[in-house]
Amino acid sequence: MKMEQIDKNWDLVVIGGGITGAGVLREAVRMGLKTLLVEKNDFAYGTSSRSSKLVHGGLRYLKEGRLHLTYESVRQRQRLLEEAPGLVDEIDFLMPVYKKRGPGRLPLTAGLVLYDLMAGKRYHSYLDRKSFSEMVPGIDPTDLSGGFRFMDAQTDDARLVLRLIFESIENGANAVNYTAATRILRNEKQEVTGVSLADAETGKRTEVSAPAVINATGAWAETLHPVHESDMHLRPLRGSHLVIPAGRLPLSQAVTLIHPDDGRPLFIIPWEGALILGTTDIDHGKDIDTEVTATRKEARYMIDCLNAYFPEADIGLTDCAASFAGIRPILTNKKGALDPSKESREHVIWTDKGLVTVTGGKLTTFRILAGDALKAASPWLPESSMLHLKAPVFTENPQVPEAGENGLSADIWRRLFGRYGKKAISIAANARPEDLVLVPGTHTLWAEIPVAAQTERIRHLTDLLLRRVRMGMLLKEGGRQHLERIRELCEPVLPWDAGRWDEELQMYMDYVNTALRVPSA
Ligand SMILES: Cc1cc2nc3c(=O)[nH]c(=O)nc-3n(C[C@H](O)[C@H](O)[C@H](O)COP(=O)(O)OP(=O)(O)OC[C@H]3O[C@@H](n4cnc5c(N)ncnc54)[C@H](O)[C@@H]3O)c2cc1C
Repeated sequence: MKMEQIDKNWDLVVIGGGITGAGVLREAVRMGLKTLLVEKNDFAYGTSSRSSKLVHGGLRYLKEGRLHLTYESVRQRQRLLEEAPGLVDEIDFLMPVYKKRGPGRLPLTAGLVLYDLMAGKRYHSYLDRKSFSEMVPGIDPTDLSGGFRFMDAQTDDARLVLRLIFESIENGANAVNYTAATRILRNEKQEVTGVSLADAETGKRTEVSAPAVINATGAWAETLHPVHESDMHLRPLRGSHLVIPAGRLPLSQAVTLIHPDDGRPLFIIPWEGALILGTTDIDHGKDIDTEVTATRKEARYMIDCLNAYFPEADIGLTDCAASFAGIRPILTNKKGALDPSKESREHVIWTDKGLVTVTGGKLTTFRILAGDALKAASPWLPESSMLHLKAPVFTENPQVPEAGENGLSADIWRRLFGRYGKKAISIAANARPEDLVLVPGTHTLWAEIPVAAQTERIRHLTDLLLRRVRMGMLLKEGGRQHLERIRELCEPVLPWDAGRWDEELQMYMDYVNTALRVPSA
């Protein structure tokens, strides 16, 4: 969308198009507020497309005594499982118990009982050594006593953001990507009056008016609104992941691994046709404006942990398809001596005369962040606007078609509805039969790609292949062998000439070979 097409007057401007901004936008629209969201890169470009993709309570937070955060997260997980099928779905977790490594059966039982109590449902069970080994083929049997099975949930983080944004647009909001908020405008009493915006690529500028602005820029929050308490600041912590082709390790459930070197929990999680191994938790120590990437040391740390549990598989960095990394903003004391994994994951809010900053928290708790931010902004919002936090997160989907319709299985229909809402029907109806099959190595239908290209506000090929569909991070070399077919599918719906296509393809491959490269591979 061009700068001059953006309306000038709004009740609320939301800055940042990650999960926090998207969640605020969704709730603001439900409140009847005329709301604009601006994102300086692509929607979900930041941490919200680089998470572990779990919608979870976080068992490890229990161990740290963070009962409140775990409870709120478990309750949100349960709601999202109910309200967003096909986008937030259950995933089984398995956790081995060894005689001489990791936590023993007793403390784990206590934690899992509490976890189930919070969910109001018993999910966990204990498996003996034989049953556990059968469920986790290749797990190191030395001193294995057995293990636990419990439930959590997973999502496609970027698609969760996108569905919130596109449903908000359908309900009257506007959301523009590649548009940076460069300055908060204020009157002589220092009250917020609007925001200066600039197209992140052309530099074209405009100003919009609004009495309230919510700054949901995650790790960048202090760029627009420094923390008011002088001894506090945002500490950017980096978390990295490796993507392993599914064929390399036959896992159909997620497995929790305790790192033999430092006792930190890591996960290996089946996701969208691949396995994700993560994560690290270290001080980023670099400029947050340069692309965040995994280092060789992090990659080795993760792969060593995997090999400690699956020695026979002997997975090396060259087996990995990609790596990706994101930043967690943590509000901390300037001295910042705490172990990164011990820093609080609770969200924080600070306000200043119409400007509300909300940061931290989790993907899982986005509705709590949205509600708290909007409550903090309420003095500057129209009096009649009311929060409806009990409403289902998405509008209800029409009846899911019978399995077999268009040759698609019930699971594929469910996934399509979860990710695209009612647009799922037109994706299937308008597709050629040969496009209603999966891109090899992923759970994406070819038919999704041109529809996303045409209708989901992409500016670049990277937006399409990394965030509308996720093949860029799932496949070796970003799925280079499929680019010709993708071009053929998208040429009719994108206004790009041959020169632009060449540029976009080059830009995409450059990104894949730098930002998503497996260190040292
Ligand atoms: C490695 C890792 C794994 C994680 N795994 C999980 C998990 O499995 N489950 C879970 O619940 N949580 C997880 N989290 C936490 C979760 O991912 C984050 O809390 C969440 O994504 C933060 O979302 P956000 O919208 O606040 O920030 P972001 O997603 O970073 O969004 C902020 C956006 O603001 C934009 N922006 C910045 N400045 C401007 C500006 N001036 N103008 C316009 N836009 C601007 C940025 O481009 C960015 O897109 C994880 C975090 C990390 C780091």
